Amino acid sequence: MLPLSALVLAGALASVPVQPLEVIGRKRDGLEHSPQEIRLLLAGYLEGSIPDYQLAAWLMAVCTRGMTRAETLALTEAMVAGGEILDLTSIPGVKVDKHSTGGVGDKVTLVALPMAAACGVPVPKLSGRALAHTGGTLDKLESVPGLSVEMEPEQFLAQVREIGLAVAAQSPRMVPADKALYALRDVSATVPSLPLIASSVMSKKLAAGADAIVLDVKFGRGAFMPDIQSAAALAEEMVWIGEGAGRRVVALVTDMSNPLGRAVGNALEVQEALDALRREGDEELLQVCVSVAREMCRLAGVEADPADALRDGSAHERLERMLAAQGGRLEDGLPVAACQLPLPAAAAGQVAAIDALQIGVGCLQLGAGRRHKGDALDPAAGIVIEAPVGHHVRAGEPLATVHARSAELISEAAPRLQAAWRIVPHEVTRPGHVLARVDRDGIDYLS
Ligand code: URA
Repeated sequence: MLPLSALVLAGALASVPVQPLEVIGRKRDGLEHSPQEIRLLLAGYLEGSIPDYQLAAWLMAVCTRGMTRAETLALTEAMVAGGEILDLTSIPGVKVDKHSTGGVGDKVTLVALPMAAACGVPVPKLSGRALAHTGGTLDKLESVPGLSVEMEPEQFLAQVREIGLAVAAQSPRMVPADKALYALRDVSATVPSLPLIASSVMSKKLAAGADAIVLDVKFGRGAFMPDIQSAAALAEEMVWIGEGAGRRVVALVTDMSNPLGRAVGNALEVQEALDALRREGDEELLQVCVSVAREMCRLAGVEADPADALRDGSAHERLERMLAAQGGRLEDGLPVAACQLPLPAAAAGQVAAIDALQIGVGCLQLGAGRRHKGDALDPAAGIVIEAPVGHHVRAGEPLATVHARSAELISEAAPRLQAAWRIVPHEVTRPGHVLARVDRDGIDYLS
């Protein structure tokens, strides 16, 4: 534990003879903060001497004025220093972590990480829960009967040493500043800020201790970044922060306009991940997962190809071993929804798009996500897409199968879900998915 102690605060105050109010005013006026000023604000807020309303004013000033890269790095490092840092040195080799900025139907972690682990990459991964309309890996994993994502550090490290892969919840003692800041951002309209998102994500990744990190930065209707330009800018910022902090970082910029793969919902996505690892998956999902796993191998200096781990079944076996090691009993079966109904197409034509945001919100209505903090979710709820982008449908044919606890829940969500499909009378081509790659040398657009 490296607490932001009174000594650090006193040191910051001694070297910067300014009051928090002056620091906030400097950002309002578009001036650059020193690292000491940033530490002063963060320490004051965590210790309670700076109230919510003052920090919220500063967050809003950051939203409108932005931050230089040096400021964003200083904020990230101050956030990391305020909590525990996971020590991975007992695991041999180059440890590689992966993070997605969040999407709908995003089960890449469950597919790509076993592929990388099967190739010999040690993968220690701390994950999050569902956020707004986007799903969370921990919620997906917990749909497996008996599985626990709460692991003591020793157990987590031992599992990575033994089977090369563990996915667990982050300790609340890691980056407590992010939890406090995120809660305040959520209620002060200051979530969509590039430096605030970049520092929030990268502080957690740096504290998780891996040598290298692959970021999946998503954009489009189902993501937090609206377009490829903003996603690429966020990716560049996060790569820069990670490299500045001494880690190797690569980011892929991927399209989240349409849900990824066929399933959206916790148990449904675990089933889809297991199927994908048996090569029974959606082609686009597999392409994204292989791209992510290849980047993980490259960063680890491992020559094996994840596509081989997919073909020979070793990636599938690796996921099963991980689930079992964490107490999961796949043999008991994944939860199944009591009510499963088809969602009929309102018109004939070709599917041009499926609005990922509406699918995410619709699945939340079905019970797959939380409306309020602490709500229990229904692990079996969600949808399985029968008519993906590019598919031809006749009116009345199923677009998807909807899974929920009751027919009432399905009829409440059905109009929103049905409206998510854009069906057109002309030919469409399915768009590419991995659209850019960012590393320390810059950005490469892939199509
Ligand atoms: N995910 C995070 O972890 N932080 C943000 O600020 C946004 C998305």
